[in-house]
Amino acid sequence: MSITRREFVVSSAATAAAVAAALPASRAHAATGSGEPDVIVIGAGLSGLETAITLEENGLKVLLLEGRQRVGGRIYSLFDVPGHPEVGGNTIANAYGRCIAAGAKYGVEIVNLAPKMFANRSGQALYIDGEHVPLQNWPTHPKNPFPAAQKQLPPWGWSNAMFKEHMPFQDLENWYDPKYAQYDVSVHDFLTSKGANDAMIRLGFDTNIAYGTTSHDVSLLQQAFADNWQNVNRGAIMGFSRGGGTAGAGNAANILVGVYRGGNQMLPIAMAKRLKGDLLFGKSVAAISVTDSGASVRCSDGTRYQAKAVVCSMPFSTLRHVALDPLPAPLQHKAIQMLGYIPITQFHLVPKKPFWESDGLPASMWTDGMLGMVLAQQFGETDQVTSLTVWCRGLAAQYIDRFGLQDGARMIIAEFERLRPAAKGLLELGGAHSWAADPFAAGDWAIYQPGQVTEFRHAVAEPHKRLFFCGEHTSVGSRGMEGAFESAERVALEVLGAVA
Ligand SMILES: Cc1cc2nc3c(=O)[nH]c(=O)nc-3n(C[C@H](O)[C@H](O)[C@H](O)COP(=O)(O)OP(=O)(O)OC[C@H]3O[C@@H](n4cnc5c(N)ncnc54)[C@H](O)[C@@H]3O)c2cc1C
Repeated sequence: MSITRREFVVSSAATAAAVAAALPASRAHAATGSGEPDVIVIGAGLSGLETAITLEENGLKVLLLEGRQRVGGRIYSLFDVPGHPEVGGNTIANAYGRCIAAGAKYGVEIVNLAPKMFANRSGQALYIDGEHVPLQNWPTHPKNPFPAAQKQLPPWGWSNAMFKEHMPFQDLENWYDPKYAQYDVSVHDFLTSKGANDAMIRLGFDTNIAYGTTSHDVSLLQQAFADNWQNVNRGAIMGFSRGGGTAGAGNAANILVGVYRGGNQMLPIAMAKRLKGDLLFGKSVAAISVTDSGASVRCSDGTRYQAKAVVCSMPFSTLRHVALDPLPAPLQHKAIQMLGYIPITQFHLVPKKPFWESDGLPASMWTDGMLGMVLAQQFGETDQVTSLTVWCRGLAAQYIDRFGLQDGARMIIAEFERLRPAAKGLLELGGAHSWAADPFAAGDWAIYQPGQVTEFRHAVAEPHKRLFFCGEHTSVGSRGMEGAFESAERVALEVLGAVA
């Protein structure tokens, strides 16, 4: 599921070991066994860690069980690659209030990349069918499938323009209100009803997709949720600019493209150090039993733990492989089995030289082929591009995953060199990860598929006796890392109400 720079040549797991080593021994080793915990939290990603810390701050004894050998879950920094690029959660934006507060609380500084990104804005090179298409040629290019009025839009801007023009309701923050059930249809059906054809949808939505595998398996209401979160962030920029009395959105000084100094994983590492109770690694949860007064957890290594309550932060894509006794209510059971997840596989390439200075094109690329999107990373302390992230999403991720990461990396580098001859011999693999093949993620972020918002959104986070749920997939007002923190707030209150 994951390879590092050295594993590409020999076998090593340096990053995981480095992270485990960064934690105090009592956190990274076996339980002290000093009495039964009040609450077991499963998963040491952002939501599980925040829940555990909040419960401890409110006087409960907590045991945290984590299947991996590291903290962070879908936050994963490549510490041994220049600029420590992110394999998982990337950036936080203006409305990420909880993430900003967490940085302050746990002592991890947030670095704003916006000024240097705006200062060095070179855009991204467009590649269609393996050929570079200068953006000024795109409106008249024979492979441009969009209608006359939209031909000037780059492929990455088309679907947003369609949603902006045609989204059938404005009240996006209530995306899950039953009154919008009629819009719980596939994005494909919706775009088709607005005059789009398959060629437009394939290039303008399915290629380098943000939600779903294709437009067929994502609900328009999921898209409304995502649009709302983008609008909340844009609104926060405007708010800040009013407060500061300076120009509005578009001014880099007002825009937060935030990362935690040293790598985003520094945040969960700092959070883990605040835990008072045990954090046990290598505890892959296989079964959870619950009653009205307690719960027990069995791990695949045969160990068992019991407590008054269990909080599960596992994504549903992995929870669906855990035996639950008794089964939750039918709709929640169905949600656990069926909620969608986007497949994403990343390759991190370290350039030996800035080859983009030789061919005069932007280092970043948007392709309709195997490479997906290539993003030039500037996570380091200077303005320099430290690495290039190849983002294969949706069908591109499914395709490359069939070859495994070793062969996949070779194919990716060969394709890169074919598209950009100037890069020949200058790309070194820094790391690669398939989130779909990762047994503790089995996909990237959660996606409501057509019909799923109406059918089971309300059931997703319902407590099941003494089993409680958190995680980004349970959030409703925010997404990603902020959604993970949002869910921790809710679940901590639920548990304190039931147990304290
Ligand atoms: C490539 C990528 C890019 C992203 N970019 C952004 C971004 O730019 N901005 C943003 O806000 N968000 C982004 N995200 C999303 C963000 O990283 C996640 O939403 C967030 O980290 C999820 O936190 P969580 O606690 O809900 O879940 P997780 O971090 O997945 O935590 C769940 C934990 O449960 C553990 N677990 C799973 N199964 C078991 C089991 N059987 N037994 C024991 N433990 C188990 C996992 O190992 C994990 O540690 C991105 C994610 C990825 C992968």
